[in-house]
Amino acid sequence: MWTMSENVLEAIFIKRSQQRKKTSPLNYKERWFILTRDKLSYYDYDPDKGKRKGLRGYIDLDRIKCVETVQTEPNCPQERMHAFQVIYDEGPLYIFAKSEEVRAQWIKKLKAMVRFNKDLMQKYHPCFWIDGMWLCCQQEVKQAVGCKVLDGKNGFTSKTSRRGSRKPLPPTPSEEMPVRPLPPQPHKAEAPCVGMSVIAQYNHPAMMPQDLELREDEEYTILEMSDQNWWRARDKYGNEGYIPSNYVVETANGLERYDWFCKNTNRSQAEKLLKTENKDGGFLVRDSSKPGKYTVSLFSKGGGEAGGICKHYNICTTAKGQFYLAEKHNYCTIPELINYHQHNAAGMFSRLKHIVSNRARPPSTAGLGYDMWELDPSCLTFIRVLGTGQFGVVQYGKWKGQHDVAIKMIKAGCMSEEEFIEEAKIMMKLHHENLVQLYGVCTKQSSIYIVTEFLSNGCLLTYLREGLRQHPTSVQLLEMCKDVSEGMAYLESKQYIHRDLAARNCLVDGNGTVKVADFGLSRYVLDDEYTSSAGSKFPVRWSPPEVLLYCRFSSKSDIWAYGVLMWEVYTLGRLPYDRLNNNEIVDQVSRGLRLYRPQMACEKVYSIMSSCWLDKADERPTFQELVFTVQDLLYELQ
Ligand code: ADP
Ligand code: MG
Repeated sequence: MWTMSENVLEAIFIKRSQQRKKTSPLNYKERWFILTRDKLSYYDYDPDKGKRKGLRGYIDLDRIKCVETVQTEPNCPQERMHAFQVIYDEGPLYIFAKSEEVRAQWIKKLKAMVRFNKDLMQKYHPCFWIDGMWLCCQQEVKQAVGCKVLDGKNGFTSKTSRRGSRKPLPPTPSEEMPVRPLPPQPHKAEAPCVGMSVIAQYNHPAMMPQDLELREDEEYTILEMSDQNWWRARDKYGNEGYIPSNYVVETANGLERYDWFCKNTNRSQAEKLLKTENKDGGFLVRDSSKPGKYTVSLFSKGGGEAGGICKHYNICTTAKGQFYLAEKHNYCTIPELINYHQHNAAGMFSRLKHIVSNRARPPSTAGLGYDMWELDPSCLTFIRVLGTGQFGVVQYGKWKGQHDVAIKMIKAGCMSEEEFIEEAKIMMKLHHENLVQLYGVCTKQSSIYIVTEFLSNGCLLTYLREGLRQHPTSVQLLEMCKDVSEGMAYLESKQYIHRDLAARNCLVDGNGTVKVADFGLSRYVLDDEYTSSAGSKFPVRWSPPEVLLYCRFSSKSDIWAYGVLMWEVYTLGRLPYDRLNNNEIVDQVSRGLRLYRPQMACEKVYSIMSSCWLDKADERPTFQELVFTVQDLLYELQ
């Protein structure tokens, strides 16, 4: 069984002592390094017996800020030629690999696993910190900002070069060329840090004594950020406690206080917000793809196109530093400019009539409070039954009377509960806008409850079959696929295998955003019909040949399932291979049968699905590659 503690990589390395004080002696010891999905640990090592001994230390992966090579010193001994550094909040950990290949393999793997971390560094020190000094820049403060800019975003090469090769797009009223957003990464120029001021974008009540209440638009100071999802903060009255880190933004330009300002929102997210709101003259202001610039996105219901159209206007600056939009009506500040255009179209296709805010619906938090996974069932109110699944009834309810939640009530004998509870502690830390958030579990009563984020549009399969108000466009369908690929790319980076990805295991929120649910849950099902590949409930229609024949699960078997999910989306929820039974599918798929091209899928969309169904698992794309491919195609189709 694959658990969080299963090893991803293992090797004997030399580790340099941390040198916490300037004068601490430097030493180099052989250690047994083990990389699991959530930790990098090192153990004592007995070279004579070749055995691993006691644990000497570890780093939680979510605290890592950078993984890079280190330039070796002149005359360094042969065994210390292949150095790399893992930087986390305590500074760098220096490790020496036996060969270039091993070093490259570890750096690549570690980078992929930490690339969604919130506070990745943009700059680093290419040389060692020794006896109180950085050899590269001679600075004498260990915390000194790096002297070298990383290639790409923290060295994780996004295929930015492909961006240049994109076909020119039809002209828009804006000078801004749509550029594919980078993979999820911190958007800030500088990494957020302790001591910075932030502004709350949403209210959030203090659920537990150690939490701090957030009040929209008020300012807070960050005190501690060792947990990615929950930061310790102080409010202006001096109260301290934990706050959800995704509810606050850095105070950079003073625009954060305005409801029309949507920080960290890109062009396609803006269009989605405006279209969902569907109000003529709906607008918002967002960061432009050009750093330091802003764009107004405006929606009109007219213009002949069904579903309305969005236009994007860059906010321009005059030589004197004043701001203007379509025509030269200059203002000293952006709020003044917006105020003017709320009353005057002045060159735009409508005035800014209606503020559309991304703050209308607060996002999910990683759990309901800091370090809280065991929930008190007396805080739950049950409101209505949502459906019945593999484990029993699922209900909609409230947590402490105010937070929407979905509650899975696990029927006795359906689940290996103890193992699941262990895993739940780890699942709580998985947080992504395209994953259904686990909020916690109630384990003390006879049937355990799993409490998750509630999504008002329910299961994706039902939504495809009967929930879409109008006939969907290819772009809308591809947006759904994109949502799923982003959530899955996050799981892939955490080495987390879903094992049962399908439209029935995705949910849709009130904005139409799709989120992946039930990841990893199938491992805890006690039902042979479901878990055995010969069982009647096994997801045969979503499984690649290597799973059907040898039960070989991997992120690449999730990729196959993703291709089938795309097919479900583009057929509006048809059953894959509907004329075949399970035995026939195993037989024919392993001999090369593939799903046909759905009518609504163009050749390009079909080629994406088909790439997921390559016979050889390692020839299929990764989810991160799929995110790029789907995004590119979205821009082409729009
Ligand atoms: P299981 O995965 O345990 O078999 P499901 O997750 O399929 O059960 O849940 C059964 C039904 O309950 C789903 O089809 C969906 O309609 C509804 N449901 C489950 N979880 C949620 C949720 N978080 N928000 C909204 N509806 C949900
Ligand atoms: Mg399910």
